[in-house]
Amino acid sequence: MYEHLKATDSKVFDIMQSELGRQREGIELIPSENLVTLAVLEAIGSVFNNKYSEGYPKKRYYGGNEFIDQSEGLAIERAKELFGAEHVNVQPHSGSPANQAVYMALMEHGDKLMGLKLDHGGHLSHGHPVNFSGKTYHIVAYEVDKETETLDYDAIEALAMKEKPKILLAGFTAYPRNIDWKRFRNIADKCGAYLMADIAHTAGLIAGKALLNPVPFCDVVTTTTHKTLRGPRGAIIMCKAEHAKAIDKAVFPGLQGGPHEHTIAAKAVAFGEALRPEFQTYAAQIIKNAKALAETLKKRGARLVADGTDTHLLLVDVRPFNINGKQAENALDEAAMYCNKNTIPYDPAKPFIGSGIRIGTPTLTTRGMKEKEMEIVGNYIIDVLEHHDDDEYLAKKRKDVLALCAKFPIYPELG
Ligand SMILES: *Cc1c(COP(=O)(O)O)cnc(C)c1O
Repeated sequence: MYEHLKATDSKVFDIMQSELGRQREGIELIPSENLVTLAVLEAIGSVFNNKYSEGYPKKRYYGGNEFIDQSEGLAIERAKELFGAEHVNVQPHSGSPANQAVYMALMEHGDKLMGLKLDHGGHLSHGHPVNFSGKTYHIVAYEVDKETETLDYDAIEALAMKEKPKILLAGFTAYPRNIDWKRFRNIADKCGAYLMADIAHTAGLIAGKALLNPVPFCDVVTTTTHKTLRGPRGAIIMCKAEHAKAIDKAVFPGLQGGPHEHTIAAKAVAFGEALRPEFQTYAAQIIKNAKALAETLKKRGARLVADGTDTHLLLVDVRPFNINGKQAENALDEAAMYCNKNTIPYDPAKPFIGSGIRIGTPTLTTRGMKEKEMEIVGNYIIDVLEHHDDDEYLAKKRKDVLALCAKFPIYPELG
């Protein structure tokens, strides 16, 4: 693969090889990342890239879309089967624009949107003041409970009854615990809101039947396709049939132009992979690995937000090691372990510093690592936090990381 790129543009090729090397040799702990199959990569790099196809299957504004329609149709059918959705739009370019399209479809400017606060585990696109969502809509933000650091459904219900939002949004980017979808549905019914879920992080775990599927409970569900779902960068919107027209109109012509049909073909491939029984084994292993990692970290003195995980991700409060999130991220980087600094609920530190790190197991699980390796990785993480300012130690640890990764090779076909 890539022989033409190598021949015509060695600069880009060389940079790409360096990135491949980085991915091969490092421990990737960022919970929103994954390693897609070569089949997905081939679809992304395909001739579907060349085609304009504004509109939807059988209703296009350009000619020559016979095969594009087949490919997009396949993506839609497979997503419907995977999540049991009544209607699916596979065109959103990414998670944030998918959310934007839903808001456009169901709200007017100034309407009330109720979502979880960013520093409590929500997403920028759920109403943060710097984001389009916060600038366009009237935001009501809920928080997690200060003691348990988990969702307090009674408090959410009280706030929803007081504020009567148009959309109640249950979506999480840094929340490690299970979601009570039935309770969310109940609250939305009581206060007269649409219930929207944003399952960007957990979609693969849901598709793999390792977590409860919110689609039957919700009016609309958005998800990215590149996180635990292990597909190309992109998103989809699933909804009840009654919202199909409004959602489709919001995506195109409301928000986007020509769909990225190469990405949509790759979504079809990824959904096909997720429909196979092996994907359920994969999803279950991601969670087993996260729980094993949590156990090791706790044993070594880390404090976990919400006291652990039911999913693929962990939020680690790093203050017991007398450092902040930024220092932790940097030290781990030195040892070729990649994570992101993160605020923790009620964090006294600024977002760019943060008191925690967010780590997860999707990528390491894709590489074939299991509980035994999670214990090793967990110990490496704490070793690094304890020696965060000892460059020599971090360099030594980097060698250990390289040796572990060498036992779990990725993309051997890429040379
Ligand atoms: C990642 C994420 C998004 C945004 O996805 P992008 O593709 O980065 O725009 C939206 N919502 C949640 C909950 C996410 O975790």
